[in-house]
Amino acid sequence: MDNEVKRAYLEKNMLAPFSKGKNRFMVFCDFCKKKFHGSIKISKNNRAYSMSVNGANFHHLDGNPENDVVENMRLYCRKCHKNVHYWGIIQRWLEKTGNTVDDLPDSKKLKPMTYRKY
Ligand SMILES: [Zn+2]
Ligand SMILES: [Zn+2]
Repeated sequence: MDNEVKRAYLEKNMLAPFSKGKNRFMVFCDFCKKKFHGSIKISKNNRAYSMSVNGANFHHLDGNPENDVVENMRLYCRKCHKNVHYWGIIQRWLEKTGNTVDDLPDSKKLKPMTYRKY
């Protein structure tokens, strides 16, 4: 993913644009709002060339990693990112089996699945 897109995504939610040199910032998971720290470097000719956020990942909403536009990006913590992809699997499965969300059992009553050898 292009660093400039990540930068645009981050700046959209920042009070001020990044300055030249190394910038440290705080950012939140787009889903659960968990807080993360990151850093980004801006070159003298104003290009973002190094960006990292510990514990969070960028996600492409339309599933197409080539579609690097800000509107198609979300930043999620690892847990939310995993769950978003699980949810995608479930949605496709519902579609394939002709069921809806209402056909699913109440997940609050479900225990986590365990596997046993037999
Ligand atoms: Zn999250
Ligand atoms: Zn993803």
